[in-house]
Parts: sequence; structure tokens; C-alpha cells
Amino acid sequence: MSDFDVDLFVIGAGSGGVRAARIAGGHGARVMIAEDDRIGGTCVIRGCVPKKLLVYASRYADDFDDAARFGWNVGDTSFEWERLRDNVEAEVTRLSGLYRKGLNGAKAEIVETRATVAGPNAVKLATGETVTAKYILVATGGHPTMEPPIPGGELSIVSNDVFHLPRLPQKLIVVGGGYIALEFASVFARLGSAVTVVHRRDNVLRGFDEDLRVRLRDGLVHAGIDLKLERTIERIVQLPDGRRRAHLSDGETLDADAILVATGRKPNTAGLGLEEAGVALDKVGAVKVDAFSQSSMPSIYAVGDVTNRVNLTPVAIREGHAVADTLFSGRSWSADHETIPTAVFTTPEIGTVGMTEEQARDLGHPLKIFEASYRPMRATISGRDERIYQKLVVDSFSDRVLGAHMLGHDAAEIIQSLAIAVKMGATKRDFDATMALHPSAAEEFVTMRTPTRS
Ligand code: FAD
Ligand code: NDP
Repeated sequence: MSDFDVDLFVIGAGSGGVRAARIAGGHGARVMIAEDDRIGGTCVIRGCVPKKLLVYASRYADDFDDAARFGWNVGDTSFEWERLRDNVEAEVTRLSGLYRKGLNGAKAEIVETRATVAGPNAVKLATGETVTAKYILVATGGHPTMEPPIPGGELSIVSNDVFHLPRLPQKLIVVGGGYIALEFASVFARLGSAVTVVHRRDNVLRGFDEDLRVRLRDGLVHAGIDLKLERTIERIVQLPDGRRRAHLSDGETLDADAILVATGRKPNTAGLGLEEAGVALDKVGAVKVDAFSQSSMPSIYAVGDVTNRVNLTPVAIREGHAVADTLFSGRSWSADHETIPTAVFTTPEIGTVGMTEEQARDLGHPLKIFEASYRPMRATISGRDERIYQKLVVDSFSDRVLGAHMLGHDAAEIIQSLAIAVKMGATKRDFDATMALHPSAAEEFVTMRTPTRS
């Protein structure tokens, strides 16, 4: 019998923490998991899941418009934010309940309170109790940041607040040009808000393939979003009618019902007692870990956004699973951070896996680029002015497909499947040998015959 109260204490019941607790419990470990908000974490409660439901809602706007040319008589349509918000909230509550059930099923004891690290093998609960643990897993996620702070920033909202807006903003300003800023800008533009995006660079989504960035920027403008690039917001003030006024760096002022600041997220490590317990943090406050998610204190591990490696839910889940197996099953493995597919759920949607053309070139790969840009079949009848863009980045020496990128309908779904081939090291010849599935957009990836440039 161990001298510790539990074998594993998990701080944070989000994507990574819940997976680790369930797997460890399944291996027979005595597990306790603390959560000071709602079980499920960012993804389930205020991230991926409710966001994707809003994305679905927003796309009906296009569907209603397109339906007429397909023969449907759609009557007057109108949108009710409150109904959507409440239905999304109900689904989030259902999922949170399922997460709780999963933890109960794995016999992980849930403590619904804030927990902090009180030593290499001790956790202090906000209730005053101290629990000793053979291992501690820090899975506390991150939170939205505004750095440096914008004067009047307290008058703005962050992504957490979007899901509780009392009404649909008629006019919304979004600050930032990353995943969160663009996904919400895209959603609210279709739900009926007049949306302005203010972004400090000359284009959005830094780090993504240039060809996707340019086309997404054009797609957002086409959707009616007012994109103000190379500008920042210098201060925000409240108007007598309760609305907000943003003063931009170029002297322009913009009034809006809400200003959403989406300029990045920071790991939740403040006041957690980590450094005092011998856990090294990096300069943004993320827990420094090795490939096995072990921190500088051998009994303390960390997974997910709190380590600021790749801040995506499947990554946090895989890391949590690996830690639990490594500690309690005798099988030691680590999450592989190479070739992670990702999507940006804007409309048009982005799906991408592997190297961008720029990354491949910088690494010295001799390249062949294959591209397809065309009007989706649906648009031939709907008349909608849109295009799909697909691209393969191929090493012309080894013939290996280094990256696959797509912008347009179902990009996330298509790229997830293609990610298997890219991860396995498929060559362009393998793609060519694969029979097309017709008619589909995905088939373009196996019918690209001639490189557009080398
Ligand atoms: P979290 O899920 O954040 O869980 C951490 C938990 O720890 C939280 O519940 C928190 O309350 C709790 N906690 C913190 N401190 C303490 C403490 N001291 N004591 C007790 N509990 C504590 N990723 C995708 O892959 N796809 C998407 O489409 C996607 N969309 C997103 C949309 C938005 C708006 C946001 C914000 C994020 C999105 N993400 C998406 C990212 C994804 O949500 C995160 O990468 C993922 O949730 C990280 O999981 P985690 O376990 O590290 O942390
Ligand atoms: P991102 O890092 O994606 O984007 C932050 C944006 O804010 C960038 O455009 C950045 O510009 C800009 N920015 C940063 N600091 C400032 C500043 N001081 N003033 C003005 N602009 C600034 O972060 P997000 O918050 O959008 O998302 C956090 C993470 O969550 C993502 O990186 C992703 O890992 C995850 N996520 C995943 C989603 C998905 O899978 N679909 C959806 C949502 C989130 P610059 O480019 O110049 O740095």
C-alpha cells in the first residue's frame, strides 16, 4: 500500500486532465481530479464544441440563400440568437454530464474546487484540505490574454463571453487575426452582425500557408467583413448609450455593441505553486516538460495548453493518455507532435496538415507544387461566387507529400482523412494511384497531374 492518499492527482478536468484521469483509473490507479469551473474544460464548455455549433448555425444563412436556385421556396427567414445560445448551452451541459459520468466510471474522485501544488507530492484544495499524491498532473489549460493591456480593455469581451451574449450584437469589432478572432468574425457576420476585424499585420493567420491566407482574407471580405489590417486599437471608451467606441492607431474611431479581443491565450499557472515546488516555467509561464510531459520535478507532469506546445484538444488528449499509460500501465510512450492536422472553422473553412510551402522551402526541400482552384459543383446552380482551393506540397526528390492544404467546404473533414496518408509518408505516386471518388471535392487531391510550379 502506497504512503500517498492517491496515486495520481489531476488538476483541471478539461481535455487532457479528464483523459489522463480516466485512463489511469482504468489501469487501477487511485485518482483524484480537481476542477474549479465546469467539468469538460475549455473545449467542451467554451471552445471547440459550442464554437462549432455556432458555425453550423451561421452556415444556414448561405443554405437559405442557395436553396431557391435548387427549387426550394424558402419563406421569410429570421434568426433568434437567444434560442441558439440556450440550445448550445443545453448541449454543453449534457456533454459536461457525460464527462462526469466517464470520470465516475473510471472511479476517479472529483473534487469541485481550486487546487494548487503544495510540494512535489502534495496538492492543496481551496477547501483547506491537503492531499498527497505519488504523481501530480497539471492540466489547467489557459485563458484569454490582452498583452499589453488596451486602455479601457475591461469594456471588451473575450471568447468565453461570446457564448453568453444577452443579444446578437448589431455591430461587432473583433481584434486579432488568429483562429478565435476569425472563426467568431465569420460566425457573427453570417448570423447578421456587421463585423469589423482589426488586425495588426498585413494579413491574417500568420504561420499558415500563404495561398490559404490570401484566399481566406478575400473570402472574409467577400462575406461582408470589414477587415482593417495593419492597425491596432489604442483605447476603448463607453458611449452614453452603453455602446463602445474603439480608437484605432490610424486615428479612426469605430462604434460597436461589443468588442471581442482575441489576441491570444496564456497558460494557467499563476498562483499554482509550481515554481515553489521546483517546477520550471518558461517565459510565458508555460510548464516546461520533456517529450513524456514530465516537468523539472520528476513527480509532476503537465499536459495540454498549460505546456503551450500545440494548443489543440486532440493533442491535450493524446498527451494525457500517454502520461497515464506511461505511469500506470508499464507501457511508456509519448505523444507525437509531428504532422498535426488542424482546421480553422471560418466560412470558407481551412483544413491543413504538414508543411506549408514556405516551411518546406525554408527547410531546403526541392519542391513541386500541385494546385486546384475551382468553383464547387454546388455553386454552379446556387450561383454563389465562391471557389475551392487545394494544394499539395511535394518533395520533388523523394516524391513525398509534405503538406496538404485546403480552403472551402468540408476542408476539415477531407484533411483529417488525408492526414493519415501524409503521416504515413505517402508519395505523390501513391496519391496518383488512388482511384478518385466522383463527384467530390476530395477527389481533386488524387487527380492533380501537372505541377503549377517547381
Ligand atoms: P482545458 O480544456 O482548458 O482544461 C483545463 C481545466 O482546468 C479547466 O476546466 C479549468 O477550469 C481547470 N483549472 C484551471 N486551474 C485550475 C485549478 N487551479 N484547480 C482546478 N481546476 C483548474 N481546439 C481544437 O482542437 N479544435 C477547435 O475547434 C478548438 N476551438 C477552440 C475555440 C475556442 C474559442 C478556444 C478558446 C479554444 C479552442 N480550441 C480548439 C483549443 C482547445 O479548447 C484547447 O486546446 C483544449 O481545451 C486544451 O485542453 P487542456 O486540457 O489543456 O485545458
Ligand atoms: P492565435 O495565436 O491563433 O491568434 C492570436 C492573434 O492575436 C494573432 O493574430 C496575433 O497576431 C494577434 N495578437 C497577439 N498579440 C496581439 C497584440 N498585443 N495586439 C494585437 N494583436 C495581437 O490565438 P487565439 O487566441 O486565436 O487562439 C489560441 C489557440 O487556441 C490557437 O492558437 C489554437 O491553438 C487554439 N484554437 C484552435 C482552434 C481550432 O482548432 N479551430 C480554434 C480556436 C482556438 P500575430 O499573428 O501578429 O501574432
